[in-house]
Amino acid sequence: MKILLNNNDLNEALGKVTNLGFVPTMGSLHKGHISLIKRSLKECKYTIVSIFVNPYQFNNKNDYKNYPRNIKKDLYILKNLKTNFAFVPSKKVIYSSNVISKKRINKNDQILCAKFRKGHFEGVLEVMDRLTKLIKPSKIYLGKKDYQQLYLVKKFIERKYQSKIITCETIRDKYHLALSSRNFLLRKKDLFKARFISKNLKIFKKKLVKKENINDLIIKKKRELSINLKINFDYLELRNLKNLELSKKITNSNIFYAYTINGIRLIDNL
Ligand code: AMP
Repeated sequence: MKILLNNNDLNEALGKVTNLGFVPTMGSLHKGHISLIKRSLKECKYTIVSIFVNPYQFNNKNDYKNYPRNIKKDLYILKNLKTNFAFVPSKKVIYSSNVISKKRINKNDQILCAKFRKGHFEGVLEVMDRLTKLIKPSKIYLGKKDYQQLYLVKKFIERKYQSKIITCETIRDKYHLALSSRNFLLRKKDLFKARFISKNLKIFKKKLVKKENINDLIIKKKRELSINLKINFDYLELRNLKNLELSKKITNSNIFYAYTINGIRLIDNL
């Protein structure tokens, strides 16, 4: 595996490379990331994984500071997977002299995390724009776990570049909790709460199939979980997977939710 640090390294290594799969990550790799990487390794001739904790997508300084970093272990994992290239740029390499050109999120898209984490997706689109321009991959592998990110990045990247976005399934632990680098930060009792919420909402969604007053039941569920677990939800909403509009029926829709537990913000959709 070649470790690439800057534009020169990229140009040298990727000059003649075609059929390149790209998996962008912020590191602290877990089985969710690994599933994306394995899919790229299977579908593409070459695979590049970036590890870059993008400061511009954090709307909270402490969140950026405390985000788990584990570069040694990450490189070990990537090497064992037989990844061709690991791209590990510094902030200077990505943002160098260029002025940040603020990306815009449409008014209609100012929902879910775009509403509650101001500037977050503008930062995500900015870094994805820069990484795609540098790497020029054939395919970019993204997880459904961050569904709104997938939705916005796909819209932006496929309009501007030749790269195709590949949608990957969410990997969960045996208690149905979606794997996330942020799970590493949870205290044991909060991990149990997070698992409880995932399982509880999975069962709840199944029961909704036969119900008519779905929206009332969702509002009730949000209140019940907030009170019983003493957790603050940013949102818990049923949304259509095609256009992310609020939905009144279960078909083609998921429950999207975000909450903070002892300062750690978790999101999922199921
Ligand atoms: P991150 O390092 O959190 O920015 O995530 C990098 C990529 O991995 C994104 O496309 C995520 O959606 C994806 N990802 C994160 N967690 C999971 C998971 N549990 N299952 C599948 N993909 C995931």
